[in-house]
Amino acid sequence: MSTQNRVQSAPTIAAWAHSCSRGRLHRPIYKRAQRPNGIWVMPFGLAAAVFPIRPYNSPNPPLQYRRVPSLRCRRDPMVIVFFVLSCLIQPVWATISVSNTTPMQGETVEATYAPNGADKIVDHKTSQFFSFNHNTYKLFPTESGNFHCLIAMPADLTPGKYSITFGDEDCPITVKNAKFPVEHLSLPKTKDNFIMSPGEEQAMNTAKATLSNQRLWDGHFIKPCQAKISAVFGIRRIVNHKLLKDYYHSGVDFAGNLGQPVKACADGKVVLAHRNFKLHGNVIAIDHGQGVVTIYIHLQKIMAKEGDCVKAGQQIGAVGATGRANGPHLHLSLYVNQVAANPLPWFSKTF
Ligand SMILES: [Zn+2]
Repeated sequence: MSTQNRVQSAPTIAAWAHSCSRGRLHRPIYKRAQRPNGIWVMPFGLAAAVFPIRPYNSPNPPLQYRRVPSLRCRRDPMVIVFFVLSCLIQPVWATISVSNTTPMQGETVEATYAPNGADKIVDHKTSQFFSFNHNTYKLFPTESGNFHCLIAMPADLTPGKYSITFGDEDCPITVKNAKFPVEHLSLPKTKDNFIMSPGEEQAMNTAKATLSNQRLWDGHFIKPCQAKISAVFGIRRIVNHKLLKDYYHSGVDFAGNLGQPVKACADGKVVLAHRNFKLHGNVIAIDHGQGVVTIYIHLQKIMAKEGDCVKAGQQIGAVGATGRANGPHLHLSLYVNQVAANPLPWFSKTF
């Protein structure tokens, strides 16, 4: 058992029980105690209780004690105050926990800050952020009074040790190598490039950066297309016999037929619905809240407009081969706080 587990306190166990009740079977790993002000005062209070008497051995005790000759000692009032205070100040353990301390590249983890009665470091009025890998992650309140956010491990993040930090506190994690496969692909010369339309990159980046406070999804995501997966997340590609440097597949490809329905993975709001982008073709992006965005690329048809609120399973388009595609398929991307995450775990697990 690690040191981190030994400092787990009653409130943190309650927090863990709560997270399990929401279908999360992972066991949080708790960090060392933060601001344990009460625990340091307690020994002094105990000492005051055991050794409260300060005898006066002087043959000439102060005047007030001469009136009662039998009482030749007194309790130091400051020691008594110290003892009472130490009883009133309870130990507190503010903790940072993470749902998985050894995630793979591309994996999404939930990071939680549990104040557990510690100083009011986090309140509802001020935005607070975790830091990880030079990015910041806005924290959102949970039903149990804690604060959390979702963090995706970038596919190209070098495996190794990292920290999720909050102020001067940190929670160590170890990112593992996902060993993504390499795929050979042939594209016609006209499509063997990443040229985008004017404004395409900015529109895509704006959609990925959507950060709304309200969590709109419930339960796990549904697959947007009833077809087999032809390319998994994270693969590197050799296109026309040339390895694409710094490239990894930022989503999942579903080998759907032309015109096959494409459905929203979860409840959300359409933040981008655009036709004829050179790279992405016809594309829809849906904001699910709290930094989670799904993007549906290469569509034949678009059946929603920007600003529409859509439900999980609602048809939003049809499978196509628009943009840079070598045949009909749906490319689904999932962005978590602007980082491309592997969508597959989201189809079987609630984040
Ligand atoms: Zn793709």
